[in-house]
Amino acid sequence: MLAAEDLAHVPVLASVPPDDLARLAQTAGDVRLAPGDYAVHEGDERSLFVVVSGRIEVTKLVDGIERVIGARAPGQIFGEVPITFGTPYQGSYRATEATRLMLISARQFHALAATQTEVLTKVATLAAERIGGLRGIATAPFKARAVMLGHASDDRVRELRTFLTRNQISYDWIAPDAPDRATRWTGPTLTEDQLPALVCDDGSLLTQACSRDVADHLGLQTRPRSDSYDTVIIGGGPAGLAAAVYGASEGLRTLVVEREAPGGQAETSSRIENYLGFPTGVSGDELARRALQQAVRLGAEIMVTRRAAQIDPARKTVTLDGGITVQARSIILATGVSWRRLSTEGFERLLGKGVYYGASRSEAGTTQGQDIHLIGAGNSAGQAAMFFSNHARNVTLVVRGASLEASMSKYLVDQLRCKPNITVALQSEARAVHGDKALTALDLFDRASGTSQRVNSGGVFVFIGADAETAWLPDAIARDERGYVCTGEVVAKLGRWPLERDPYLLETSVPGIFACGDVRASPVKRVAAAVGEGSMSIAFVHQFLAHASRPPAS
Ligand SMILES: Cc1cc2nc3c(=O)[nH]c(=O)nc-3n(C[C@H](O)[C@H](O)[C@H](O)COP(=O)(O)OP(=O)(O)OC[C@H]3O[C@@H](n4cnc5c(N)ncnc54)[C@H](O)[C@@H]3O)c2cc1C
Repeated sequence: MLAAEDLAHVPVLASVPPDDLARLAQTAGDVRLAPGDYAVHEGDERSLFVVVSGRIEVTKLVDGIERVIGARAPGQIFGEVPITFGTPYQGSYRATEATRLMLISARQFHALAATQTEVLTKVATLAAERIGGLRGIATAPFKARAVMLGHASDDRVRELRTFLTRNQISYDWIAPDAPDRATRWTGPTLTEDQLPALVCDDGSLLTQACSRDVADHLGLQTRPRSDSYDTVIIGGGPAGLAAAVYGASEGLRTLVVEREAPGGQAETSSRIENYLGFPTGVSGDELARRALQQAVRLGAEIMVTRRAAQIDPARKTVTLDGGITVQARSIILATGVSWRRLSTEGFERLLGKGVYYGASRSEAGTTQGQDIHLIGAGNSAGQAAMFFSNHARNVTLVVRGASLEASMSKYLVDQLRCKPNITVALQSEARAVHGDKALTALDLFDRASGTSQRVNSGGVFVFIGADAETAWLPDAIARDERGYVCTGEVVAKLGRWPLERDPYLLETSVPGIFACGDVRASPVKRVAAAVGEGSMSIAFVHQFLAHASRPPAS
């Protein structure tokens, strides 16, 4: 417990009478931190801290990068802005050495301030000064972490832009023929075959750049840091990230293997309206951003641009593309689903050159002022139509059926009707796409009249449903006829369960390998379900590990 003498050197409390100071010392929290421990995180609720001994550094995420923006030494306080203005913390506070803090709760502070107005004045004055400092950070000129040079029509440019956006890395993209190229492109003169090229903030120049090189140079993790983990989670969508948050927070050595970037399908959703706790909806990328930060803060390793290529069910190893193998005590499959393909004439040739499966928000710029077409009648297509209608000139939703109501939520159908630049072409099909180097037109077939017309198109985005991509899994992991992974009592009923104990709810036909989210054979394909199952899977991992480490019954 703290004593009044511990606070004698704190200027903010200098005017507090000894008895009151002694009472405060006795009732306040006595927090001891090891180097690297956090007192509070950005976004936490208000409170006030006094540094009794040690040292605290203040960090803030600015444009996705953690910056150290200040420090606190013994006798200094932090939390003055939240406590004065009733806001959450605007930065995180981390010990750089063994540190002791006094924690004054909001209630204690207001009780103290009611009788000790000088304390209130001093804290409020410090808060006003700090606000000035934070404003300086917010108004600092924007500096992109990477500058990319490449053609809009180049598929690799699109892939890199999506990759950077999904990894929350700020970048500036310059088309080689842009009039202001000379002022924005900081790299050397390059030939066409060296594009796409990037200058990264570590000064390196990447030519013919690919996602993994870019990830390596921008400090993203692309290799495991260890040979073995308590749990290896394959897939970094909502299910995988939820499992990572729970796994890491519960002390499991946790690795997430993600072939692209964290966020999964949800990242492409412009507004998820039905996720609990977000009354006005939340965009998929915002949800993914928060989940990623949370998982990393709690200690999970998130590896990007690595595909899990093989699982050895007997040895519980996961082999990644590139040949790296990691040992796992448990494995969680959270690989979700991938967009179903259309065999429409011209699609394969123009894929990535105006024809896309799904859509990410980074596509918005390329549809600016264009007439675009979205194929599909589900919520994904509806959400994308709403999103693109703020960028494209006209958005046409191409729907095979006679109405949208059967396949799309009512709130979305209502929203679409209110947008003057969205047209719904019912009983219609895309029969062919045209264009030399990039998409220029689409043949729209009217099923009611049996006629076809060619319309100009600046982009065709396909949302016709998705399938589990699980052909790479070993036969030992049972799947249904559509490739979804069977779990729990289903594997028992199939006669695929090898142990005496029952399988856990999310356990596959291989003990210790679990499946959660969209990849699991279940009728519910939703963010909330994926997050719930991802979280639950960790509870089953604990049970499995506890069971596995028990000595065999004699
Ligand atoms: C446009 C759109 C809008 C949506 N809107 C809503 C909505 O409003 N409300 C709602 O509840 N749901 C919505 N959904 C559905 C929701 O996004 C999914 O149910 C949810 O994302 C499923 O999460 P998941 O983690 O199981 O799988 P996914 O999100 O599919 O994530 C799987 C991840 O695994 C990775 N992966 C796959 N295979 C491998 C491998 N071999 N190695 C490494 N990584 C791999 C993928 O790259 C991906 O990142 C929407 C979906 C879309 C596409």
